[in-house]
Amino acid sequence: MSTAKAYAAISATEPLVATTIERRSVGAHDVLIDIKFAGICHSDIHTVRGEWGPQQYPLAPGHEIAGIVTEVGAEVTRHKVGDRVGVGCMVNSCRECVNCKKGEEQYCLAGNVGTYGAVDRDGTITQGGYSTHVVVTEDFVVNIPDGIELDVAAPLLCAGITTYSPLRHWGAGPGKKVAVVGLGGLGHMAVKLAHAMGAEVTVLSQSLKKQEDGLRLGADDYYATSNPETFEKLAGTFDLIINTVSASIDISSYLQLLALDGALVNVGAPAEPLPVNAFALIGGRRSFAGSMIGGIRETQEMLNFCAEHNLGAEVEVIPAEQINEAYERVMASDVRYRFVIDTATLN
Ligand code: NAP
Ligand code: ZN
Ligand code: ZN
Repeated sequence: MSTAKAYAAISATEPLVATTIERRSVGAHDVLIDIKFAGICHSDIHTVRGEWGPQQYPLAPGHEIAGIVTEVGAEVTRHKVGDRVGVGCMVNSCRECVNCKKGEEQYCLAGNVGTYGAVDRDGTITQGGYSTHVVVTEDFVVNIPDGIELDVAAPLLCAGITTYSPLRHWGAGPGKKVAVVGLGGLGHMAVKLAHAMGAEVTVLSQSLKKQEDGLRLGADDYYATSNPETFEKLAGTFDLIINTVSASIDISSYLQLLALDGALVNVGAPAEPLPVNAFALIGGRRSFAGSMIGGIRETQEMLNFCAEHNLGAEVEVIPAEQINEAYERVMASDVRYRFVIDTATLN
């Protein structure tokens, strides 16, 4: 066992505080990672505030981890000391079920082991990336290509893969019209990735405040959803809509923006239900779907794609003591476009 410095929630209602957590010893198949940067995902906020169910505290969140391997177990073959690596939302799975065998470990039938707040296969409760180091089984550690700096790479481990996977699955590419709802952490990556895949991209944001940014990130069009004319003008337009909004929205009015056979894929995960009017679906043979992160193989594919296309997240690097303030800014949709913690400030 070793002790890591960390920032952790001590209850659902109090600010996060500086603390220490335990990390397991490096086992035969484990790697020890010196964490350099950890992104702040809205899921961290949903989780520590108990919106997705009760948690065990203290809980150090963080599942957008970028760092350097500093030790490897005796049987590790995939990584070596000095490698630039990343860890995303899961650190293990059963590896035997049909979904794990397909490389879709996020849909493990036994439940994947989340990077924080989950019971690991050794019985301990996992603790996340707002921390100085972490021990992870080698199969759930991916390589960060040399072309991507570690700070802009960190958010790719959740925001990147969560948007890359549905864009690929639903065929975003040349000739396809893709809309992205919400220009936050996930949304800005969806815009960059869909643009790099060759799709025509439209941002649907609450206001036009971030329009200039959206167009610079790769969007072709940008509309405010606070303006009812947006919904009239864009009716029947899109092949694919990726909804990244962290709150419950009127899904039916967005379904009306889909072309025949179009799909609205929800990646946003509000605690509240998302009611759907059946006529919004049957009126255009439309689909309403969901998607959760991506498998390990696809996460590596996404990182390689980002390196090839010279893509990273747009980040605001902050010291650990600003985490609580960053949470408030995320809640106010005032993130441009991902907060990333410089973990050196934990020391
Ligand atoms: P974020 O940075 O806070 O972005 C969410 C964006 O949604 C905001 O920037 C805002 O964009 C828009 N928004 C927020 N509240 C809204 C409201 N009441 N009505 C309309 N629009 C609103 O969050 P994130 O980190 O990207 O995460 C987004 C959601 O995805 C969260 O629920 C998170 O838990 C979930 N998530 C899911 C997965 C998965 O595997 N499916 C993975 C990661 C995260 P505008 O200002 O442009 O309107
Ligand atoms: Zn996340
Ligand atoms: Zn499994």
